[in-house]
Amino acid sequence: MSARGPLQGLCRICAIFGNLTEDHVPPKGAPRIGQRLLYDLGYAPNPSTVAKQRGRMFQRGVKFRTLCADCNNRLLGAQCDPELIALARRVDTHIQSRIATKELPVQVTPALLGRAVVGHLLAASNETQAVNAPNVVAMRNYFLDRTLSFPDGARIHLWPYPDHMEFVSAGHAAITTHGNVLVYTLKFYPLAFMVAWDSNPDWALPGVDITALLQENSGQPRNLDLPLDRVPTHFPELPSGNNGILVTMVGDETIRYSVPYRKS
Ligand SMILES: [Zn+2]
Repeated sequence: MSARGPLQGLCRICAIFGNLTEDHVPPKGAPRIGQRLLYDLGYAPNPSTVAKQRGRMFQRGVKFRTLCADCNNRLLGAQCDPELIALARRVDTHIQSRIATKELPVQVTPALLGRAVVGHLLAASNETQAVNAPNVVAMRNYFLDRTLSFPDGARIHLWPYPDHMEFVSAGHAAITTHGNVLVYTLKFYPLAFMVAWDSNPDWALPGVDITALLQENSGQPRNLDLPLDRVPTHFPELPSGNNGILVTMVGDETIRYSVPYRKS
């Protein structure tokens, strides 16, 4: 999928006008997985993915032409993405090993992991959000000021995502049985992150709550047990049960799917 949007505009991280560069999801260096192994492991790919693949081929990955070169290449790509890629590789290695466990112990550096996730979520936002949406401004401030901890009012969950389709959404309302929740979602094999703003704590998000870990804002590695059972592969893009419905708030430009290139 080629990047859309103008060559110049507001950087969604620093909010300075200038030339824009492409943010990539997944970041370069993240692991890849074939559909065959996913089937072998018992994971059913997203049915909408399968349907699309009957007729069309897509290049793998999601691109947003929304960041200035400095925010993209130095702050996000060089400083934060290696942490996200290392975690993805750790989880990938475990999935490929085919060893069934309920939890996977991992190490993460909270100050870097949180900013890597937030950086890619910001890249999916639009110019209006970058300037006017209080939660987006809070995420921009958090990303740029390394002394700040993860924003108040937001919680963030992480779960394994054994699917080969990327999903990124910035600022969408999830209509749930506990009311509407504003969510930001970043999913690429094998990780899924969701940031929920002002959310009712009764609304159970999947995976492990890493909010407190990120609020520590430590630059040192911390231990984390990643739950591997009850993986909600298609949440939130294909809701089920009482998980809610994902509704576009700011236009389709901020939700991107991609389907990997399939050799057959
Ligand atoms: Zn910038």
